[in-house]
Amino acid sequence: MLQNANPYMKQANLIGGKWVEADSGAKIDVVNPANGKVLGTIPKCGQAETARAIEAAQKAFESFRKTTALERSKMLRKLHDALLDNQDSLAELLTLEQGKSLAEAKGEIGASAAYVLWFAEEARRTYGDVIPSPWADRRVIVTKEPVGVIAAITPWNFPSSMLARKIGPAIAAGCTSVVKPATQTPYSGLAWGVLAEEAGIPAGVINIVTGAAGEIGDELCTNPLVKKITFTGSTPIGKLLLEKAAGTVKKVSMELGGNAPFLVFDDADIDRAVEGAMTAKYRNSGQTCVCTNRFFVQAGVYDAFVEKLAKASKALKVGPGVDEGVQQGPLIDEKAVEKVEELVADATQNGGKIVAGGKRHALGGSFFEPTVIADATPKMKFMKEEIFGPVAPVFRFETEEEAIALANDTEYGLACYFYTSDLGRAFRVMGELKYGMVGVNEGLITTPEAPFGGVKESGLGREGGHQGIEDYLDTKYVCIGGLGG
Ligand code: ADP
Repeated sequence: MLQNANPYMKQANLIGGKWVEADSGAKIDVVNPANGKVLGTIPKCGQAETARAIEAAQKAFESFRKTTALERSKMLRKLHDALLDNQDSLAELLTLEQGKSLAEAKGEIGASAAYVLWFAEEARRTYGDVIPSPWADRRVIVTKEPVGVIAAITPWNFPSSMLARKIGPAIAAGCTSVVKPATQTPYSGLAWGVLAEEAGIPAGVINIVTGAAGEIGDELCTNPLVKKITFTGSTPIGKLLLEKAAGTVKKVSMELGGNAPFLVFDDADIDRAVEGAMTAKYRNSGQTCVCTNRFFVQAGVYDAFVEKLAKASKALKVGPGVDEGVQQGPLIDEKAVEKVEELVADATQNGGKIVAGGKRHALGGSFFEPTVIADATPKMKFMKEEIFGPVAPVFRFETEEEAIALANDTEYGLACYFYTSDLGRAFRVMGELKYGMVGVNEGLITTPEAPFGGVKESGLGREGGHQGIEDYLDTKYVCIGGLGG
């Protein structure tokens, strides 16, 4: 249990403005991945509680939909201020349940605040259209309206900011929500309930349930009161939710898996590429859907890049996220470590050469060494499978065409990165890569102003940017006749 009570650590669910337990009283333990100790518990809710949360959201929607855009914008500004005023407490909670370093956790809370501020601004810009009418006596008007109750299901790797991208546009649009945070990291999700209370957001606008993922998910996907599902997580679960949501034709947005390539051409600034590679690979211990999964490096700079990447990787400070100066925390759990071990073993069996790390960290638990594997080949499992850990396989290529073909040889299409100083090549490659987001000479590109999302099996819809609110709005066409003229 936490030594000093964190004011944002709620061990209950929020339904219709009341903090409640599961009907059965059942609870689930939440564990600190840095030491395996139990931090606290959360209610193990299921179908019945979820249905009540949806009803509470629907009830709140009846009045919330009538608030003005300016009122909702002000609520979001207060929410933004509450996040920043309490950044340290929220970051501490995040690190304790998730494992990432305190610096990264503070960064995530800052990102949550930035998304909320962005949507506070976008709330006032959900413009419709007045269209030149083809009829002399009629007017043609298009308006935007909130879709209604939305359901948000979020993962454990960014337990705060993934909700910011969903709660932010929902409130901006005038929607109410039922939120299900990941079971491993529920407190950063439940904290949104406390923040909402502080910001004066009306009861029932945000409802939060934790517990049995399948049961809660089924209710969210099949209950006709829910008009939209927004999900961030794995592609297999995303597909399952898409199927379930089809029964009541809900809107869906899906931020799913990635298999990011990182291309380094002979003409690149190698030091800049290595710097970008460190962020694109090791952020959150490699546990992000935009983390580089595959490095493709042109033959002329291959050895130099591998050497520099290995050196920088070995220099990373690994430890519990709360410790001063730590750059890489533990992986989320034992299963994640086993998956990484399996991929590393497969690579070495297929001729991969470990040039940094390669095994569990001496700290034990779910800590893993930052790892670089040279001589990677497309036969290896990480050509297709998401690593979700601190392992950098480096493939060699000869030509631009070969690099593009390798980079696109995946069913995923979320983020990709490439480094070159040739302007012509930059535009050619940018055009050929089949991805929703491209970093050119940059390894960290996420920002609230830009649309985040993927193509192919990486998802549907965009979060952030002016696009980020669209999925929370219905378009209504109104034709007004009999006006004379
Ligand atoms: P990850 O590999 O990141 O854990 P998941 O897709 O399994 O990815 O989990 C993302 C979110 O989806 C979490 O909140 C998890 O609890 C939830 N989830 C898992 N299975 C289901 C399901 N069958 N229905 C609804 N949500 C689910």
